[in-house]
Amino acid sequence: TARVADTWVKTTCGYCSVGCGMLVGVKDGKAVAARGNPDHPVNRGKLCPKGLSEHHILDGPGRAKLPLLRKNGKLEPVSWDEALSTMVERIANIQGRHGLGSLGVVGTGQLLTEEYYTLGKLVQLGFRTPNNDGNTTLCMASAVSGYKLSFGSDGPPGSYADMSTADVVLLIGSNIADNHPILCTRVGEGPDKRPGRTLIVVDPRVTKTAMMADIHLAIKPRGDIALINGIAHILIRDGLTDSNYIAAHTINYDAFAAYVAAFTPQHVSEITGLSVEKITKVAHLYGRARAGFIGWTMGVNHSTQGAVTVAAINNLALITGHIGRAGAAPFSITGQCNAMGTRESGFTSALPGYRKFDNPEHREELAQIWGIDAEEIPKARGMAYPDIIEGAVTGKIKALWFIATNPVVSFPNYELLKQALESVEFVVVQDGFHPTPTSDFAHLVLPAAIWGEKEGTYTNSERRISKVNCIVTPPGEARSDFDIFLALAERLGVRDRLYPGWQTTADAYAEWQRVSAGRLCDYSPYSWKEIEDAGGIQWGGERLYADGAFPTADGRAILHNVPCDPFLEQPNEEYDFILNTGRTVEHWHTRTKTAQVDMLNKMVPNAWLEMNPVDAKRLQLRAHDKVTVTSRRSNVSGLELRITSIIAPGQVFMPFHFAETNSNRVTLGAFDPISREPNFKQCAVRVQKS
Ligand code: SF4
Repeated sequence: TARVADTWVKTTCGYCSVGCGMLVGVKDGKAVAARGNPDHPVNRGKLCPKGLSEHHILDGPGRAKLPLLRKNGKLEPVSWDEALSTMVERIANIQGRHGLGSLGVVGTGQLLTEEYYTLGKLVQLGFRTPNNDGNTTLCMASAVSGYKLSFGSDGPPGSYADMSTADVVLLIGSNIADNHPILCTRVGEGPDKRPGRTLIVVDPRVTKTAMMADIHLAIKPRGDIALINGIAHILIRDGLTDSNYIAAHTINYDAFAAYVAAFTPQHVSEITGLSVEKITKVAHLYGRARAGFIGWTMGVNHSTQGAVTVAAINNLALITGHIGRAGAAPFSITGQCNAMGTRESGFTSALPGYRKFDNPEHREELAQIWGIDAEEIPKARGMAYPDIIEGAVTGKIKALWFIATNPVVSFPNYELLKQALESVEFVVVQDGFHPTPTSDFAHLVLPAAIWGEKEGTYTNSERRISKVNCIVTPPGEARSDFDIFLALAERLGVRDRLYPGWQTTADAYAEWQRVSAGRLCDYSPYSWKEIEDAGGIQWGGERLYADGAFPTADGRAILHNVPCDPFLEQPNEEYDFILNTGRTVEHWHTRTKTAQVDMLNKMVPNAWLEMNPVDAKRLQLRAHDKVTVTSRRSNVSGLELRITSIIAPGQVFMPFHFAETNSNRVTLGAFDPISREPNFKQCAVRVQKS
C-alpha cells in the first residue's frame, strides 16, 4: 500500500471506541489506503477489518451530497440557504404553536467532541428545547448511570493496560473478539501476556470471546445480577473481601452484606444454570487475585436493569479493593468512537463537564463562562431518546432532528418508531449518507461531512483523547456538522452570543477546555498538538480513584443492594424462544458506513439466525433454511438458519446490522427506568420456515 499513496495522514479510527491510531494514504486528493499506526499506544500498528477498509467509506456510493427538501412528497435538491432557512422557519413555526419543547433532537457518538459541545449549546440555548439526547442512550447510558450510582460520577476508572496486567480478567456480556477486536488482543497475546492470567467470560452464547476463555460461564439470559450477587456472597462468606478498603472508602456495607446473604451458591445456581462449583471457583479466583479486572459491554447495558447491574459490578470491585490499582478496575467498554467525548461534553443526561442540571453552582459556573444568565440553563434534563420517540407518538414532540444516526434500524420496536416518524410534522435527517432507512422518512436531508473530512477529537473507552484529522474534502455540497450548527445559529440570531468569534472546531475545543477545567474530565491541560504528538492523552491519567476518594457527598463509594428481577418477556408456548441480538466484526451498527465497503459486504452479506441443533430437530429445520422470527410486535423473514451449539437450546441469536432483516422489528420497546437504555437482549419469539 505504501507505493499507492503520496502522503499518509495520521488520525484515529472512526468506528469503535477502542480508538486505534491509523495512517490514511492519500493520492491525488483521494484516500486510497489505511494502515495501523505502529507508534500508537492503543493498537501498536494493528487494525481490524473495518479500520483497514475505512478509507473506502469516504467516496462510497451512498454519500449524501446535496441538501434535499421534500416537495409534493418527493425529496428534491435545494440550496443550503433554502435548506437551513426552511429548517429554522419550520421549527420556529412548530415551537410557536406547540411550545419550545416540541422539538426533539437526537445526536450521536459519531460526532467530534467539539461538534457535540457546539450542538448542545445550539439545541438548549439556541432552539431552547430541553429535549436533546444522543444515540449513546442506546448503548452506554446504563454504564453512565451505574458509575454515577456507585461513584458519584461517570468515568471509567481503568485503562486498557489493566486488561494486560490483571491476573484475573472477568468479561460480562462482552464479546470483544467481534466488537472490540484490537482491544481483545490485549487479553490473549502480545508482550503483556502474563503467565497464569485467567480469562473468565460470562455470556449465554459461546461467542468468539468465550472460546478464548479459560472459564466460560454459559449463563441463562439475564442471570448476571444473581451471579454477581452470588460472587459477593461467597467473597464475604470466605473472607476474601478487603475490609480496610471497605471501611475507608465505602458506605452501606452492612446492609449490602445482609442483602447478598440470600444469594447462596445453590440459589444462584438455580437462577443462572451454572454449577455451584463453577460459581465458587470464579468467586475465589477474583477474590484471591492480586488485581482483578471486570469489563462489560452491551450484555450488561442493554437491559431494563442495566444501570443497577453496573452498580452490582462496581460492588464487587469495591468490596475486594479491585479498583484504582494497576490491573484492578470495573471497566465499561464503550461502543462508538466518541461515546465518551459526547457524554462528557454534551448537554444531554448531564450538563457539560459532568455537571448536574439540578446544581445551581454548576449552572452558574457555565453561565459565567458563556456570559449568559444562569436562568437560561435548564434545571432538569429534558426527554431522553426513548421519551422523545414516545413523545412523538403521543403528540408532545412535533419536530425531530436526527444527526448521524439511523433509528429505523437501531431503535427497538420498529413499529412504534415508524409511528413516531409518521406522526410528527417535520423530520430533519443530517447524515453523511443518503438514502438511509431513516432519511427515507425525512422532510429535509442535510448532507454532512464524516470521519476523514473534519478535524477535532474523539475520546475512547479508556478516556484517551485522540486527534482526528482531515484527510480529504467532503463530496458534493456536504458540510461538516460543525459548519451546519454555526450556520443554523446564524439564522437563529444567536451565533455571536453563543459562539463569539468562532470559525473552526479549534475554537470549540478552546472553550471546551475552559468548561472542563477543574472537572473530573479535565481537558484543559492538553492542546490538540500535545494530544497528537502523544498518540492520545488520558484525561484523569492512567486510572481514577487511586486515592480511594470518590466524587460523592462524603467522598465514599456507595454499595447498592441490587434486586434480581426476571426479564420482562418470558417465553411461553406461543413464543417459545428467547431472542438475543448482537454484532459481527465485519459490520458497524446499521451499516450506513460498512455497506459502502465492497469487501465487508462480500464477507458478511446477510443476517442469519443461530439455533441449537436440539431445537432445529424439534422444528424439523435444516441448515440454510430461510426462517421467519415472530414476536408479539412484528416479524422478520428470510433469515438464513445456522444450526450450532454455540447457542443454547431455547435461545436464538441474530445480528442487528441489517435493515432488510431488521431485528428491531421484533425487539421489545422496554427501557431501564434510570438510564433509559433499551432492553435489546431478551424478547420472546417463535421461529418458522419462511
Ligand atoms: Fe477501528 Fe475499533 Fe477496529 Fe480499532 S478495533 S480498527 S478502533 S473498528
